[in-house]
Formats: sequence, structure tokens, C-alpha cells
Amino acid sequence: MRPDGLRKGKLLTWKKINLTFKELLEAEPSFWQRYQGVVYTAACAVFLAIGWGLQFSSGPGWLPLVFFVLSYLAGGTKSATTALRLLKSGQFSVDLLMVAAALGAAAIGHWEEGAILLFLFSLSHALEEFAMDRTRNAIRHLVDLRPRTALLIREGREISVAVEQVQVGDRFIIKPGGRIPLDGVVVDGQSSIDQASITGESMPVSKGPKDPVYAGTINGTGWLEVRASKKASDSTLDKIIQLVAEAQNQRAPTQRFIDRFSQYYTPLILLGVALAIAIPWALGQDFDAVFYRAMVLLVVASPCALVISTPASILPAIANAARHGVLFKGGVYLELMGQIDVVAFDKTGTLTSGKPQLNEVVIFSEEIDDEGLLRLAASVEQRSEHPLAQTVVSAAQARGIELQAAVNFRAFPGRGVRAQIGDQTIYVGSHTFLTGQGIAITPRMHDEVEALTTQGNTLMWVASARALGAIAVADQLRAGAQQAVQKLRQIGVEKTIMITGDNQRVAQAVGQAVGVDEVYAELMPQDKVRLVKSLREQKRRVIMVGDGVNDAPALAAADLGVAMGAAGTDVALETADVVLMADDLDKLTFAIRLSRQARTVVFQNIGFSLVVILTLLATGAADVLSLPLGVIGHEGSTLIVVMNGLRLLRFK
Ligand code: ADP
Ligand code: MG
Repeated sequence: MRPDGLRKGKLLTWKKINLTFKELLEAEPSFWQRYQGVVYTAACAVFLAIGWGLQFSSGPGWLPLVFFVLSYLAGGTKSATTALRLLKSGQFSVDLLMVAAALGAAAIGHWEEGAILLFLFSLSHALEEFAMDRTRNAIRHLVDLRPRTALLIREGREISVAVEQVQVGDRFIIKPGGRIPLDGVVVDGQSSIDQASITGESMPVSKGPKDPVYAGTINGTGWLEVRASKKASDSTLDKIIQLVAEAQNQRAPTQRFIDRFSQYYTPLILLGVALAIAIPWALGQDFDAVFYRAMVLLVVASPCALVISTPASILPAIANAARHGVLFKGGVYLELMGQIDVVAFDKTGTLTSGKPQLNEVVIFSEEIDDEGLLRLAASVEQRSEHPLAQTVVSAAQARGIELQAAVNFRAFPGRGVRAQIGDQTIYVGSHTFLTGQGIAITPRMHDEVEALTTQGNTLMWVASARALGAIAVADQLRAGAQQAVQKLRQIGVEKTIMITGDNQRVAQAVGQAVGVDEVYAELMPQDKVRLVKSLREQKRRVIMVGDGVNDAPALAAADLGVAMGAAGTDVALETADVVLMADDLDKLTFAIRLSRQARTVVFQNIGFSLVVILTLLATGAADVLSLPLGVIGHEGSTLIVVMNGLRLLRFK
């Protein structure tokens, strides 16, 4: 993606904050790169001071001039080269305006004032650069988390290998306290891992065989053997870094507005300044005075502060969010998040843990027993990635039941699954799914499971040509779900709703337990989409929160799709607009509050810059503003805007 399509006539002060993924991955800037701005600025000040002092000495008259010229060179060379480079491609930059003003001042003999202008301008550049480095560092910090080598096990020996050379399937070991070099799956060992760098969770997560681990996370006191599941460059951490870098390069809506504005504004300033010289001069005013005033106007009219208002707020906010395990895919979503009216949750895996327990197996047929029913169901479900499916499969495995081969598998999202085992077609799914397939469910069967549904169990009906039985599973509420819903209400979200494909009874029970305002049950995936759309038609801005795997269409239909628990699932990272890396609903309120704060700061910044520009323009036009004061006002306001934005890095 081309960062910030460099259009003609745009003022480019803020450009330097945006970074590309590649830049991020590069090493820290060298000492000289980091401090050259400061060195030049200091030199500019020293030459200026000497030149100024020499004016009062008895030396030759040209001597102070030599130092003023040196001061100009130290303070202005960088700006001049930038200005010329941009001018060649037809762009007016703020640097150009400043250099022009300084040269103008020199032309009418105001060398000191020109040098002061250049000094202040390069000082504020250096300070801005420092400030922006903080935002950059917040992300670069993520890059530093990746170890460069992994300890591979080859022929029983440990060898250290660069992560880029590790292949998928290679086994590596992680010692206590070590950082994990690549995404992988634990093969052996037991430990707890600090995953804060990926998910923002502060509590370590315990890991054993078959659990996934992520590059950049920190091992606790255990020893682990891990099989690499992704190449180094495909790791979740790299995806995060890339997403954040891309997000920072996307313009927020207020940003776009201001870009358009400054396209007309820049030529307008130049025209205005030309007129401010031509008209009074034609009317017989003193050229030097007129020209000096025009230079002041040229400086103060540059909308640096205004142009930087939005990115200086949005970028630190995006970086802050990323550190807390919330990935915004762009400034647009950050701005939108705070303006949301309705939060819609998917039930399974979002409000509930998504790890249901098997409670009971009910048999309707003479020809099969509990074990046989589980075997059939699990054999079909081993092909499905639905949380219910995984429950049945692990329950069967826990009982040592051998699974059979299933062919012609097909999933019906929101309803169930079907596959062929031997010469039988087996269906597993909801009540409506089975009746829809023409399989009768008798009143007697209903009576048998009645008590189970009342207790909040979801039933997975199993059938071949006839209904064979049902498996009752129940999902736990996600820890903290209730508080999260309550907090959303406290921060002023108008309505919370739950939408689910599960049956009415279970849905009501879960909905009541977490305290959402409305519950919509027995919805097919396309019904979920329709519901979200109808809310939007009522002029409600809707967030849809889901796991991003089987509810992607609804996420896409909402104003803002939020996927949670996304560490490790690439689909979720790709489909959602905002990604919560951890399984932590609290991050949703955090994200909304951060977004609102970011909007507040954007508006503060824009308001403040406008007031400063208008005040400076008015005083400049009234001839009561000197060039150095004008520069202080102009650069000072730019710095204040940047500092104000940086506060968002620390928002909690
Ligand atoms: P939710 O909206 O709660 O995420 P889904 O839309 O994924 O739920 O599924 C709705 C219902 O469809 C489930 O409650 C279940 O009855 C049935 N179902 C979906 N997938 C499966 C499956 N793989 N096996 C059995 N039943 C399923
Ligand atoms: Mg779901």
C-alpha cells in the first residue's frame, strides 16, 4: 500500500510519523540518525549567538554576517533540501514556506530574525521527531520480542539455529524464562506462559501437550518441547506488527477531510501572501515593512498543527491498543468504535466459554447404546470445527472410543453436519436441522429430553434414517461476561443483544444470566446478517462481536466487526475490523473508551490549532507580531498538539 498518496499541494509535516512494516522491522536508528537534528539545531543557535554578539564588537562589519550565514546553513540546509525535493514533484511543503520566509527576512536585512526562525523551526522538528519516536517505539518494541534463534533438537542434540531457517514441523526446546521463537504446538513438558505481548492478558496461561504457543511470549518456570507450526515470518506476532503498521497508514475520516482542506489552503496562503505584499506596496507603503509582515503571515498561516492533529492522536491510540491486545485495522475503526449504539454478541464462544461439557447421552433406539451413539456422532464431528463438535470428539476419545472413517462430510452452518459412515448417512445437529431433513422427532422423544433443555443444555440430535438419540451438552458462561455487559451499559452503550443459532430456551437462560437487553435465538447465519442490517436501518451503529470463525458474515454486516480470542486463528485476524487477541470481553470496554478519548483529543487538537492560527493571523495582519513570536506561536502550537496526542499512549 502506498502510504498517504502524496498528492500535489499537500503539506507534509505529519508524513514522517507513518511507517511501513519494513521500516518497523529495521534496526533502531543509529545515534547520529537520532541526534543529528539536535546537533544542527544547537549549531544554528551557537552561530546565531556569536553573530549577534559580534554586532556590538569593534570588528569588521562583515564578520557578524559570516556567522549569520553559518547559522542559516546549520538551521536551514535540511529544510531546504526537503523543500526542494518535494517541490520537484510539485508539492508545497511547510519547509518551503519556512525557508522562503527566512530568505525573505535576510533579503531585507533581518538576518537575526531569519536565523531565529530557522532555529525554532529545526528545534521543533527535532522535538516532534523525538515525540513521534515514542509512538514508533511502542510498536518497535513488539519487533524486539522475537528471538533471533531457536534451540532445535537434531539427532538428540540441541543446536542453535536462526529462526528463519526453522521449518514447519521442526522441534525446538524452550528453557525456563526463555522467549518463544516461533508459533508452535507443545509436544512435551508443562509450563505457564506470559502471553501479554500477544493478548494483553496479564495472567500467565498454563500450557501442556497440544496447546498452542506464540512467538514473542515468555516461558515461565517449566521446560517445553515445541513443534513449529508456522514459519518465522508467518507468526501471529508478525501478523500483528504488519496489521498495526498498515492500520497506521490508513487515514481516519477526519484526516481525509483535513487533507482535502489543506490542498486548497496551501495555494491560498501563497496567493494571500503575494497580495499582502503587492496591494500595500502599490498603495505606497514602505516595501521592507510590508514584506516583513508578509513573511510573518506566511509563517503563521501554515496549518502544521491542524494537519498533524488527527494522526498525532490516532497513531498513539492504535499503538496503545496494540499493546493491550486490541488490534484496530485502521483509524476509521478507531474513530467509529466510540460512536457505537448497539453491541451484538454471538453466543457460543463469545458470551460462553465455547468449551461445552457433555452432560448426558439419551438413546431413542433399541439398536444402539451410549457408546455406539457417541462413536457415530464423534466420527462425523471430527471433521467439524464447531465448539460443539469438539466437545463430542473429546468426550468420545476420553472414553477410549475408536472413531470410524466418515466420508462426504458436509457442514450446514447454524444447523448441523452430515456425513456417511459405512452405508449409513448420519446427521448431527439441531432439532430443526433433523426435521428439515425429513427425520421425525416424536412427542415421546421430546418428553425424554424436556428436563435437559430446561436445565440449559443444548441438544445435538443424532440420526441415521431415524432419530437415534441426543447428546446434551452445556456451555459455561465466560468468566467476566456478566460484568463486561454491565460495564458496557455503564459507559453508555444504548443496547446489548445476544444472537445465536441455539434453541430459544438455552438462549434465554444464557441471555438472562449475562444480562443482555435482548435475545434472538434459532437464527441461521443469514438471519444473523439480516438482523444486524435491520438494526443499522434503524440508524443504530452496531458492533458485532464474535469468534470470527463461523460468524464472519455477521461481522462483515455490522458497522464494526470485532473478533475475540483471535490469537492463532488467522481467519479471525482477517475478517474482523477490530481484533481482541485475548478471550477477554473487558477489552471491549477498554477499546470503546480509548476510541472516545482519541476522538476527544482529535477535536481538542483541531479546535486548538484553528484558534491559534486565527489569532496569529489576526495579530500578524494588524502588524503587532514579530517574526520570532509568530514562529514560536506556530511551532509551539504544533508541539502542543503532538504532546496532547501522545497522552493517548498512556491511556488505561
Ligand atoms: P451460535 O450462534 O451460538 O454460535 P451456531 O450458529 O454455530 O451457534 O449453531 C447453532 C446451532 O446449530 C447449535 O446450537 C447446534 O444445535 C447446531 N449446530 C451447528 N453446528 C453443529 C455441529 N457441528 N454439530 C452439531 N450441531 C451443530
Ligand atoms: Mg458461533
